[in-house]
Amino acid sequence: MPTACSRLAPSPTGALHLGNARTFLWNWALARTQSWQLVMRIEDFDGPRVRPGAAQASLETLKWLGLDWDGPALVQTDDRDPYVTAIEGLAQRGLAYPCTLSRREIAAAAPHEDDHEIPFEPSLRPPDAGRPMDFHPEEGTHWRLVVSPEAEPVSDMLRGELDCYPARECGDFVIWTVRDEPAYQLAVVVDDIRQQVTDVVRGDDLLPSAARQQLLYRHLGHPAPRWWHLPLVRGSDGRRLAKRHGDTRIDHYRDSGVPPERVVGLLAWWCGLLPERSPLSAADFRDRFDETALPSDDVVMTAEDDAWLRG
Ligand code: GLU
Repeated sequence: MPTACSRLAPSPTGALHLGNARTFLWNWALARTQSWQLVMRIEDFDGPRVRPGAAQASLETLKWLGLDWDGPALVQTDDRDPYVTAIEGLAQRGLAYPCTLSRREIAAAAPHEDDHEIPFEPSLRPPDAGRPMDFHPEEGTHWRLVVSPEAEPVSDMLRGELDCYPARECGDFVIWTVRDEPAYQLAVVVDDIRQQVTDVVRGDDLLPSAARQQLLYRHLGHPAPRWWHLPLVRGSDGRRLAKRHGDTRIDHYRDSGVPPERVVGLLAWWCGLLPERSPLSAADFRDRFDETALPSDDVVMTAEDDAWLRG
C-alpha cells in the first residue's frame, strides 16, 4: 500500500507550457521515486476560462512527455455534491455567508496598494446574527469564508517555515462564486480530501493559497497536506512565463517536430538534474531525480533555451 498520495491537477484554461510542465514532471518523479500514489484531477470549475478540448489535450501532452498516473481522472464538474455538502456544513456553523458587495465597495473599505489583492475588511462582514445558516446560492451572490485575524503558519517542504496572515492578505475570501460554482480554494480542498492527497506539489504562485486552504482543512476536520511549492519559470523580463513570451506551449514544440526527450532534457536542466541541456526521457528523469537538486531561485527561460529545443 502506498503511504502517501500526490496529484496532478491541470486547469483546462489553456495549453500546458514549459513552466507548468516542469512542475508536473517534478511532481511525477517525486511521487514515482517515493512509491506514492499519484492521482489526476481536471480542475474545470472556471466556467468562462475553460477551453473546450483543453483537458483532453493536457492529458495527452503529459502522456507524450512520458508521465502516467493511477486510476481515472477526477473531473470536478462531473459532480457538484461534495462541494455543496462542504459549504452547507460551513454555513451551518456560521463560517460562511453570502455577500453581494461589489469590488469597488470592498476596495473603498480597505487600504491597499494597486497591484495587491484587495483584502476584505471584517467590518463588511454581516454580524453573526444576520448570517443565514443554510446555504442557498443566489444570482449575483458570492459566499465568503469568515477568516479570523490570527497568523496561519505554513510549513513548506521546499520553502521552510512561513508566517502567513490570510486576514491581512485577503480577509474573508470567496468560496462560492456568482456563477454558482465552488471557488478554487474550496474546490481544491474538498478534492484533495476526497482523493486522500497527502502531498501537494505546485508552483509557488499558489503559496499564499496554502494558508487559506489550511483554514478550510481545519474547518472541514482534516489535517492539511504537506506542501511543496516550486519556484516558477519566468520570461527574460522577469515576469511569469506566459503568452507574451512567445509560444512556449508543449504542443507547439511537439507539433514543430521537437521530440519529448528534448523538452524533458531542458526541464531536467532547470531542475538541477543535468549539468547542461541534453536529451533525456521521463524515465531517465525519474531515475536521476533528486529533490535536493532543485534550484531555489526562479528559472529564467532564454532565447537559447528555445533555440536548443528546436535543435
Ligand atoms: N489547477 C491549478 C493550476 O493548474 C493547480 C491548483 C493546485 O495545485 O492547487 O494552476
